[in-house]
Amino acid sequence: MAASVSVSVSVSVVPAAAEGLRAAYTSGKTRTYEWRVSQLNAMLKITTRHEKDIVLALNSDLGKHEHEAFLHEISAVSAACRMALKELRLWMKPEKVKTSMTTFPSSGELVPEPYGVVLVISTWNYPILLSLEPVIAAISAGNAVVLKPSEVAPATSEVMAKLLGQYMDASAVKVIEGGVQETTALLEQKWDKIFYTGNNKVGRIILAAAAQHLTPVILELGGKCPVIVDSNINLTVAVKRLISGKWGCNSGQTCVAPDYVITTKAFASKLVDAISSELERFYGKDPVNSTDMSRIINSRHFERLTKLLDEDKLFGKIVIGGQCDKTNLKIAPTVILDPPLDSLIMTEEIFGPLLPIITVNDIRDGFNFITSKEKPLAAYIFTNDRKLKEDFVQRVSAGGIAVNEVTIHLTDPALPFGGVGESGMGTYHGKYSFEAFSHKKPVLYRGFTGEISARYPPYTTRKLKFLKAAMNGNIIGIIRALLGW
Ligand code: NAD
Repeated sequence: MAASVSVSVSVSVVPAAAEGLRAAYTSGKTRTYEWRVSQLNAMLKITTRHEKDIVLALNSDLGKHEHEAFLHEISAVSAACRMALKELRLWMKPEKVKTSMTTFPSSGELVPEPYGVVLVISTWNYPILLSLEPVIAAISAGNAVVLKPSEVAPATSEVMAKLLGQYMDASAVKVIEGGVQETTALLEQKWDKIFYTGNNKVGRIILAAAAQHLTPVILELGGKCPVIVDSNINLTVAVKRLISGKWGCNSGQTCVAPDYVITTKAFASKLVDAISSELERFYGKDPVNSTDMSRIINSRHFERLTKLLDEDKLFGKIVIGGQCDKTNLKIAPTVILDPPLDSLIMTEEIFGPLLPIITVNDIRDGFNFITSKEKPLAAYIFTNDRKLKEDFVQRVSAGGIAVNEVTIHLTDPALPFGGVGESGMGTYHGKYSFEAFSHKKPVLYRGFTGEISARYPPYTTRKLKFLKAAMNGNIIGIIRALLGW
């Protein structure tokens, strides 16, 4: 086991920590296959040996049920470790590329190299997954890394600082806890890559700070994820999936959770009734007291959500739920039918257990609504209509799309996960995680044969003719130039 990592909430440790990480990276150890494997195994030990500690921390921060803690966070981190351990040799292998006439005779390859020393700034809603998965990615790619967990989930931040300190190589993997002050101090340092997850206001701060050092960034942001619900569907299955992706994922405090639904006026009441009965089956008659649903992270976010709900404009429009328990920070699954489009709930990212349903005359009118807004992190459609599916995929720009599903597309490592436009830049998951923290270095190999005098002065008409023919792949022209015709 490695020596204990230094963990501090003080900004004063930041420069020395960055310097220490730089020295570890420069020593070359993080680039070796053996070091990467040892760190991935150490991470795997954290998730297996300390599952209980992690579950407790998540429950303390979010009231997260063990089921969700395991399914959405712990098992996902273990799976990312296992996949990296299995695939690492392959990922690290240079990729052969075919070279062209301009460098003939030659060979080429893309050699993945670590960026160097990287910074991961994480958020609070899936505080284990969204912190450790990027760290796993950074380690797999051979970087030294500092993780700054979110201060909004303090128990989880503390448990990660403790466990990473206990299990990981302290010289090359550090956790620096803290809030805005610490993040600001970290951003003053020069990093070789920054990976940030959080809201897009802070995303802009990260991007501006990174620009000072020309540091590349990945921004995993949020937005309002729409769901189109057509009438040509299996309603029971669609509603189960919708509920599970909204309320069954951290009470809607999920970046890819359905933010609002669009359906037709004719189908709306059928959809509301189906949601209502399925919600009762999932969470009982008194959902605010269900332990299966997470609570709101803190009173600031609770107030933010109740403010969305209390807007006068929503009067008479709440068709399901609406109950709020300030003491326990719980809000019942709540559905609002046809809120005004200029209401707060339709203009701000909800990030909580409230679901507006907007009705349209024709389901395709929903496409226009979605495309008139900023590009979301995810967009969804439930339909059996093949043409409607195809048109949705073609017309709607989003970080990712799922058809007849919500949220689970991001659990598949074959699909890169990330935003576009306001919802972010860059992707990760599966092999894309390794690539997110690797520079694909192109390398050209040549020997000392195959000299072509036409590239060197003195320049002559014949040489130019030869080069023009060669560049155009004109064999006859090449022969003519060589023969001096
Ligand atoms: P947050 O408050 O935890 O902030 C995220 C990080 O930014 C924290 O580490 C925090 O310390 C830091 N930070 C906050 N203010 C800062 C400042 N002024 N300067 C520098 N650093 C600062 O999390 P949040 O922003 O409330 O997270 C919710 C948002 O994140 C939502 O918009 C959600 O959609 C998005 N999100 C995106 C993903 C994704 O993978 N794309 C995942 C989860 C959440």
